Amino acid sequence: MAMHPAISIQNISKQYGALQALDDVSLAIEPGEFFGLLGPNGAGKTTLISILAGLVRPSHGHAAIMGADVQKGFREARRMLGVVPQELVFDPFFTVRETLRFQSGYFGIRNNDAWIDEIMANLDLTSKADSNMRSLSGGMKRRVLVAQALVHRPPVIILDEPTAGVDVELRQSLWQFISRLNQDGHTIVLTTHYLEEAEALCQRIAMLKQGKIVALDTTANLLSRYGSVKKDGEGK
Ligand code: ATP
Repeated sequence: MAMHPAISIQNISKQYGALQALDDVSLAIEPGEFFGLLGPNGAGKTTLISILAGLVRPSHGHAAIMGADVQKGFREARRMLGVVPQELVFDPFFTVRETLRFQSGYFGIRNNDAWIDEIMANLDLTSKADSNMRSLSGGMKRRVLVAQALVHRPPVIILDEPTAGVDVELRQSLWQFISRLNQDGHTIVLTTHYLEEAEALCQRIAMLKQGKIVALDTTANLLSRYGSVKKDGEGK
């Protein structure tokens, strides 16, 4: 039986009025890959992620997660996908545990506490389990965002700049955690502005610029070609 790509993006375009945010993007990411999506501000990274998460409808084209069409099979596709968004948006009056229970409920999962406890332990959140979200530091909130993406055990995880604005120590521990998820078999897609992060973690990298993929290759090939993977896709 042929295996589906973890993520399949076929001829996706997105227009916002006159603005072409994505322009005929096609891409296949294989199960188990650690994939980097790079590009300058406004390149279309978040738009592409929003389309994969079913939050934004493409003007043209199709996307699928583990073979499930995002448009036609939204529930199935969404179940396969964990998204760590850029913005730290939470109910400030929920505790960490309630936030994770609420997210479990969204996916129709009951009695998820054992798994929630395990996720919190792995992300060093256990001591904050009963703290209100509004009382947490930005770095802790970011950990909760990662935890939230994992409650339904998705095989594919997309992280939109998960280390933006976090200190070096937390960045390192998030890197380790995300690497472990990949070693455990999860497909990981990471968008980042930190080039050393992409170079250190990603097996392949696509560079988006003005809504188009301008480079797509293994990190090793991009490094040997350009010496450094520049986020504007033009090398050194
Ligand atoms: P960043 O690195 O700054 O997060 P990005 O690569 O994620 O950038 P997007 O957020 O996808 O880029 O934005 C792509 C383009 O689409 C930008 O020009 C942005 O202003 C525009 N855009 C995004 N969302 C909307 C919207 N809802 N309405 C109108 N224009 C939008």
